[in-house]
Amino acid sequence: MLNTDPHPDHHHAPGATHLSAGPERLPGICPATRHTLTDSLQRPLRDLRISVTDRCNFRCIYCMPKEVFGRDHHFLEREKLLTFEETARLARIFAALGVEKVRITGGEPLLRRELEDLIAMLAPIPRLDLTLTTNGSLLAEKAHALKEAGLRRVTVSLDSLDDEVFRAMNDVDFPVERVLAGIDAAARVGLTPIKINVVVKRGVNEHSILPMARYFRGTGQILRFIEYMDVGHSNGWRLNDVVSAAEIFATIHAELPIEPIDSNYRGEVARRWRYRDGGGEIGIIASVTQPFCRDCSRARLSADGQLFTCLFATNGHDLRSLLRGGASDDDITDAISGVWQSRGDRYSEIRSEETVTLPKIEMSYVGG
Ligand code: SAM
Ligand code: SF4
Ligand code: SF4
Repeated sequence: MLNTDPHPDHHHAPGATHLSAGPERLPGICPATRHTLTDSLQRPLRDLRISVTDRCNFRCIYCMPKEVFGRDHHFLEREKLLTFEETARLARIFAALGVEKVRITGGEPLLRRELEDLIAMLAPIPRLDLTLTTNGSLLAEKAHALKEAGLRRVTVSLDSLDDEVFRAMNDVDFPVERVLAGIDAAARVGLTPIKINVVVKRGVNEHSILPMARYFRGTGQILRFIEYMDVGHSNGWRLNDVVSAAEIFATIHAELPIEPIDSNYRGEVARRWRYRDGGGEIGIIASVTQPFCRDCSRARLSADGQLFTCLFATNGHDLRSLLRGGASDDDITDAISGVWQSRGDRYSEIRSEETVTLPKIEMSYVGG
């Protein structure tokens, strides 16, 4: 059920907030208490998604439709992107604040040249679960270098095994077989367990659900079906286009019986299921019909160094200016702590037909 709270009071006008490293900065946290950093709803900061580019070689209809992301679209200029050194410095600061998991994303992260160099800088951070989400188009060439650099595992997005459906969804005529080759290469070098993200859009690929379940069952690769979300403004989202988690469950369960299993950790976005016959597990991410904001411990860093505290936030906090303005690690720690402590985002819980039209940033910019 959609919650239709008419007071989405955490939305602000779009734009970046300039953080101050000066004496008027928000109160930070001392090293002794930093692991207890929580937001205004008592949620810890555990996950960081780092977007390394806002560009992509696909034009998925639900993410970067061609009408909006065509020739005239303005992408970030190179000098605005954080360097790998800047990104790694921020990642270390976030890790010291309690972040346990970093996901490299985009846009398409493998378009960023020598991404393995960034992976090599992040891999030594102690106790960090380091992973990456990709459309798989360049994975066959890149898998080995990524593994060598210290990447643990990957998530690959693939919406259908039906070549015609897949080409229509990525909208650049990219063939399924090359993504499957990327998945195979990742499996061969041990970037495992591999997760496969499937966004389900009504009238487009709901008939792909069962064939995908049949194909990946027993491979050790974990399918994760995702409800189509109203991210950004460009995809023309309508509630009718959402195939609900309940429907996805019923489709699979009718042929391949599944039963629930426990979450790996609090705040895990996918609800986990396993095949009763021992064929492995799948996940279903019900961001629309069963929102999970209450446990959301995720921050997002855009490729140009803006910190977002929600996928649906409109207001970024400018960390790049701090980095380039000579701020110390302590200054940056204080700034991030202040942002997190005042966080109250819970967009998915208050989503309604009205909130859909509020200003939002695109997922390809902030990182999915
Ligand atoms: N380009 C990479 C990829 O596609 O895996 C990484 C970035 S992409 C924005 C991250 C994830 O967001 C992908 O799995 C994609 O399918 C998902 N995604 C994009 N738009 C979405 C939407 N409107 N609803 C639900 N998931 C979406
Ligand atoms: Fe590109 Fe990923 Fe968005 Fe598709 S979902 S357009 S591959 S960023
Ligand atoms: Fe987290 Fe925002 Fe998504 Fe809720 S809507 S789960 S707060 S990112």
